[in-house]
Amino acid sequence: MTAVLGGRPEGVSTLHFAMDEADGIDTRQRLVVIGNGMAGARVVEEVLERGGGDQFAITVFGEEPHGNYNRIMLSHVLAGEEHEDDIVLNSQDWYADNGVALRAGVRVLRIDTHAKVVHAADGTTTPYDQLVIATGSRSFIPPMTGLYRAEDQLLPGVFGFRTIDDTRAMLAAAAEHDKAIVVGGGLLGLEAARGLQEHGLAVEVVHAGTHLMNQQLDPDGGAILKQSVEALGIVVHLATRTTEVIGPDRVRGVVLADGRAIDADMLVIAAGIRPVTEVALMSGIEVERGIVVDDQLRTDDPDVYAVGECAQHRGELYGLVAPVWEQARVLADLLTGTDPDAAYHGSRTATKLKVAGVDVATMGVNRPERDTDEFLVISEPRRGVHLSVVVRDDKLIGATLLGDTRKVAYLTQAFDRGTPLPEQRIKLLVDLSDGDAEVGVAELPHDSQVCNCNGVTKGAICEAVAGGCGSVGSVMDKTRAGKGCGSCKGLVKQIVEWAADGDVVEDPTASWYVPGIPMAKPELMTAIRERGLLSPSAVFAALAPGGAEDAKSKMGLTSLLRMIWGKDAVQENDAKFINDRVHGNIQRDGTFSVVPQIKGGVTTPAQLRTIADVAEKYEVPMVKITGGQRIDLLGVRKEDLPAMWNDLGMPSGYAYGKSFRTVKTCVGSDFCRFGLGDSTQLGIDLETRFQGIESPAKMKLAVVGCPRNCAEAYVKDVGVVAVGNGKWEVYVGGAAGATIRKGDLLATVDSPEAVIELSGRFMQYYRENANWLERTYDFVPRIGLEKIKAVLLEDSEGICAALDENMQQSIDAYTDPWGQDGKAPATPGQFRTALPLVELPLVPVR
Ligand SMILES: Cc1cc2nc3c(=O)[nH]c(=O)nc-3n(C[C@H](O)[C@H](O)[C@H](O)COP(=O)(O)OP(=O)(O)OC[C@H]3O[C@@H](n4cnc5c(N)ncnc54)[C@H](O)[C@@H]3O)c2cc1C
Ligand code: SF4
Repeated sequence: MTAVLGGRPEGVSTLHFAMDEADGIDTRQRLVVIGNGMAGARVVEEVLERGGGDQFAITVFGEEPHGNYNRIMLSHVLAGEEHEDDIVLNSQDWYADNGVALRAGVRVLRIDTHAKVVHAADGTTTPYDQLVIATGSRSFIPPMTGLYRAEDQLLPGVFGFRTIDDTRAMLAAAAEHDKAIVVGGGLLGLEAARGLQEHGLAVEVVHAGTHLMNQQLDPDGGAILKQSVEALGIVVHLATRTTEVIGPDRVRGVVLADGRAIDADMLVIAAGIRPVTEVALMSGIEVERGIVVDDQLRTDDPDVYAVGECAQHRGELYGLVAPVWEQARVLADLLTGTDPDAAYHGSRTATKLKVAGVDVATMGVNRPERDTDEFLVISEPRRGVHLSVVVRDDKLIGATLLGDTRKVAYLTQAFDRGTPLPEQRIKLLVDLSDGDAEVGVAELPHDSQVCNCNGVTKGAICEAVAGGCGSVGSVMDKTRAGKGCGSCKGLVKQIVEWAADGDVVEDPTASWYVPGIPMAKPELMTAIRERGLLSPSAVFAALAPGGAEDAKSKMGLTSLLRMIWGKDAVQENDAKFINDRVHGNIQRDGTFSVVPQIKGGVTTPAQLRTIADVAEKYEVPMVKITGGQRIDLLGVRKEDLPAMWNDLGMPSGYAYGKSFRTVKTCVGSDFCRFGLGDSTQLGIDLETRFQGIESPAKMKLAVVGCPRNCAEAYVKDVGVVAVGNGKWEVYVGGAAGATIRKGDLLATVDSPEAVIELSGRFMQYYRENANWLERTYDFVPRIGLEKIKAVLLEDSEGICAALDENMQQSIDAYTDPWGQDGKAPATPGQFRTALPLVELPLVPVR
C-alpha cells in the first residue's frame, strides 16, 4: 500500500467519521466540499474558525488518498530539503478531531444540482445543502508524438509535477537515472530542474518562450535569470518546443521543433496548468476556462460555490495560493453568516522562485503601462542583479527583484497594503542610510498579511507570541508563517521580536549541527563517540527523532564521521554529494573536471607531459589553469574517470569536496627579489600534510613570501605571510569569493614548523566546532578572534593536545580516492555512463 501522508490507520482505504448524533437528529446544514487541496481544506478551516462546526455537518471529498498537504512545498521535497511528513497541513486526525467527514481517495463524478446530491466514484451519493467545488488544477501536458504508451497512460519516465505522488515517482526515478529534460522554464519548471539536479542528474530545460519566467519577468530580467540558472549547471533551450518523445518502451530522449534530438531518461512536464472542471461540466454548471463565479464565489447554481485554481473570477484564473486564502475567507464569512456582505474582488499576486542560489521575487506588473507610470530599474547583469519597480499614483503596482531580494518583505507590504512610498523612489530598491526608516513592524496593521504562501497575518503571529511561543521557530511552526517560499522570514522574525518586546528565545534548532538530529555539534560528537556510531544510518537510527533519516543531514554526517573515526567511518554512497561519489566536479553538461594534485602549484616538465598526453588521449575539450594554480581537465565523461586517473598516476587535487583544497603559493625567496621566506616549500609542506581532510566547508590556503601578497594569502581560510627575520604571520577567516573578507591575524610565529602546527590546530578547531557548510569567514567572527586566540595559543580550554591528536588521526586516515574506487567501484553505477551529454559551444582559442 502506498504510504499515505497525514497518518491514516493502516489498511483503511476510506475514512468517514460520522458525527455524534446523540439526539438522533442532526439539525445542522450539510456542507460538502469537493477537493481536499489547499483551497478546499482552507475553506473548512475558516468555516470552523467562525464556529461553523455547530452550523454544518461537513464532508470533504479528496481524490488524493492523503490528508491535506502544502502543495507549494513539493519543490522542497523534490530537492531533498524537506521530508514529505513535514509538509502535512492537516492530518487525518485533524479531520476526526473537528468532526469533519473526510472521504480521502474518493473522486466525485458529478453533482445532481436538482436533487442536491453528490455522486462519487465509490458508488455513494452524499446529500448537501451548500456545496463548494475546490478541484484545483492539473498539469497541462502539451501534445507530443510518442508521449503516451496507451490511451491516457504516459510513457514510463514522463512525469507531471503537481502532487506528492508525482514527486515520489520523480524521486524514485532520479535515484536510477542520470539525465532529465524539463519542459517549461517558468517557476515550476525551474524548481523541478533544480530539484532533480540536487540528486546528481544533468538537467536541461526546454522553454517555448523567448526568455525564462516570461509570465513574470521582462526580457532583460529573463536574460539575467538564464545566466544565473546556467551558472548552476542547468542547460537552457529557449524559443523551442519538444515535439516528440523518443521511446518506445520508456523515455530515451526528445526531439525539439528545430529538429535537434536530446537524449534523456526522464521527462518532466511543467508547461503550465489547466483547471479541473469536469465535475462542474458534467453537472451543467457554467464553465469557461474555469468554473465561473461571481464576487460571492457562487456559480450559476445558488447553492454551489467554487474556490481556488478551478474558479474563474471576473475572467481571471489564478495559479497561486494567495488568492486561495482570500477566497476561503470570503466564502467562510458568507457561509457562516459572519459577514453576509463579504465579497471577493480579485487578488494581486506575488511570486517567488524557490530555487536555492537564484533569488527571484516578482509582484504585479513588470513594466510601465501608462505614460504617467514611474519606472525605476537597476540592472547589473554581471552580478546577476535586476531590480525594478513600477509606481502609479504614488502606489506600488509592480516590482521585480532578481539576484537580490532583500527588499522583498518591504515591497510586498507596500504592494499588498498600498502603504505610502518614500519620496526618493530609489529607496524602494536600495537602502540609503539617511536615517529614514521603512514602515516599521509596529505600524503594520494587525490584519496585514505577512506570509502570502500560508496566508498568515501579523495578528496571527502576535497571537502566537501572546499564546506562549517564545522563539521564531515555534511561531513559524504554530502559524506556518515563513514555511512557504521563505521570503517573509525576515519580517516574521522582526514581528516576533517586536511582539515579544525583545524577549525572544533562541531557536534550539539554530544550534543543531544538521537539521535531522536535535543536537549541537559537541553533543552530537560525544554521542557518536560514546555509542560507537560509524555510519550516517547508524546515527539516524540512534539519535534522530523516531530514527527518521533526513536527506539534508546526510552529507554533514558523512563528513563529521570521517573526521571523528578516520578510516573506520563507514561510507554510504547515498550520503555523499555527486562530486564526492565520483571524486570530480560535475559540470553544466553532466561531464566532470579532473584536477590532479600539484602541491603548492609547483609542477615539473614530466607532470606536464603526462597531463598533456592524458588530455590528448581522452580528447579533453578544455585544459585550464585554475585560480588555485592547478591544471583542470574539463569535460571528462564519468565512465572515463578511473582510466584517466590511472594514466595520470597522480593523486586527486581535491578540487571538488567539502575538504582541504589547495595551497596557493608565490615564488618566494628562491626566485623573487622581495622574498622574505620560502613560501613554495611551506605551501608544499602544508598541502602534503593536510591533503584531502574533510571539513564542514572547503578550505583554501595560500602562502606568500612577503606582504606584497602575490598569492592572495590575506583572503584565504588560512593565509600565511613571511614577514622577515624567519617570522611568519598566520591569518584565518579570509575570503575572496562571493564574500570578501580580509583574514584576521591569529599569530606571528617563528618557523615553518610552527606555521604547520598552528594551521593544523586552527583547522581542527574549525572542523570540530563549525556548523555544516559554515566557511571560516563566518566561523571566525561567530566564535570571535580573541576566543580562538585564547584556545589555540594559550590553551585556555586545555584542548590543544587533543586537537593535534585528532588532526593527526585524520591525516593518518588519508587515502587517495583516485587510487581506490577506480579499481573497485563503491556501487555498480559509480562510474556508469552519463551519456548522452550536452554539446557545449566550442571554446575559442585565444
Ligand atoms: C510544485 C508546486 C509548487 C508551487 N509553488 C507555489 C508557490 O511557491 N507559491 C504559490 O503561491 N503557489 C505555488 N504553487 C501553486 C499552489 O500549490 C496552488 O495555487 C494551490 O495548491 C491551489 O489550491 P487548490 O485547492 O485550488 O488546488 P489543489 O491544491 O491542487 O487541490 C485540488 C484538490 O482537489 C482534488 N480533486 C480534483 N478533482 C476532484 C474530484 N473530482 N473529486 C475529489 N477531489 C478532487 C485534487 O486531487 C486535489 O487534491 C505550487 C504548485 C506546485 C504543484
Ligand atoms: S609575495 Fe612577495 S615574495 Fe612572493 S612573489 Fe610577491 S613579492 Fe615576491
